[in-house]
Amino acid sequence: MQAHERKRRSLGFLWYYYSVRKVKEGEIAMKATVFCEHGGVDKLTYTDMEKPKITPYEVLVKVKACALNHLDIWVRQGLPGIEIPMPHISGSDIAGEISEVGIEVKNFRPGDKVIIAPGVRCRKCVSCITNNDSMCNSFKIMGFQVQGGYAEYAKAHVDNIIPVSQKLSFEEWAAVPLVFITAWHMLITRGQLRPGEQVLIHAAGSGIGSAAIQIARLAGARVIATARGKEKLEKAKQLGADEVVDYSKENYAERVKVLTNNKGVDLIFEHIGPDTWEKNLQCLTKGGRMVVCGATSGPQATMELRFLFMKQHAIIGCYMGSKKELLDVLNLVESGRLKPVIDSIFSLKEAAAAQQKMLNRENFGKIILKI
Ligand SMILES: [Zn+2]
Repeated sequence: MQAHERKRRSLGFLWYYYSVRKVKEGEIAMKATVFCEHGGVDKLTYTDMEKPKITPYEVLVKVKACALNHLDIWVRQGLPGIEIPMPHISGSDIAGEISEVGIEVKNFRPGDKVIIAPGVRCRKCVSCITNNDSMCNSFKIMGFQVQGGYAEYAKAHVDNIIPVSQKLSFEEWAAVPLVFITAWHMLITRGQLRPGEQVLIHAAGSGIGSAAIQIARLAGARVIATARGKEKLEKAKQLGADEVVDYSKENYAERVKVLTNNKGVDLIFEHIGPDTWEKNLQCLTKGGRMVVCGATSGPQATMELRFLFMKQHAIIGCYMGSKKELLDVLNLVESGRLKPVIDSIFSLKEAAAAQQKMLNRENFGKIILKI
């Protein structure tokens, strides 16, 4: 064996030995719940993944809590035409402690309590500069097009790191970002909800529904909320809904007409899809708006176009929100005017059971993974 070959082999062995040792000591490995192919909850696996490596402007966060969102389910099932990293780490709502900062990061230190803003933007284009982050051509969401928080560690650009106080627990902070930012963007920014208007909010028990009730109430609107079952209706009232309708027992469109003296509501908070689409338009007042951010019951809906133009309805698509909107929401949470609603807490290992609970619609508020 020639000298340089001996040297290469011994260096290779040293590298291997060093790597294994580091994995064993947990320096470069971390636990995560991932999926390697699209499919049902059975595709989720609790395993070892490489700990993310940071660049000079990035921050490594030791994840303490990560909230579930419906997005996690859509991404696991697979969205046509959208590439995602595999094996995939879901989880858009991350709260934790800074573990490491890049050499150019001057405003944070290891140990700081933070959340990661879920929207990844370019920070340079007109949309980003004017606080329309989700219109940015390179806009991505943590846990969707980039790796998320179903893991012991997650990394993000320093632009996404937001300090939070000790006032709330990690689980409570993790329950805030995605649903509150989206509900705010829908009701306030896009929906232009005004005091005295009447708003219909679907699925009060969902994370986004429980956020929307509070925001609509704060905006001074009269809130009509739908949910299934006595217990959820009661909780919706406690959150601030003025009227509640059990959609499994009565035709909510008829009920809304009665509750609004046949006028209909001014704004509808829609995220259900074909199950609610046509009925929604029946109980929307002339000139009313419907803001839409999701379609949990399926991707296609039909509608009577003649009513759309005769009643001059506006249907407004909404996609998450901006960092500025998130900061506004966080201030309201900090001051106690908005409250994260937690349904239950699971361990990282139990992510499949946690997602199944959300699929079964057994939750009221957010389901959290404690890590
Ligand atoms: Zn941009």
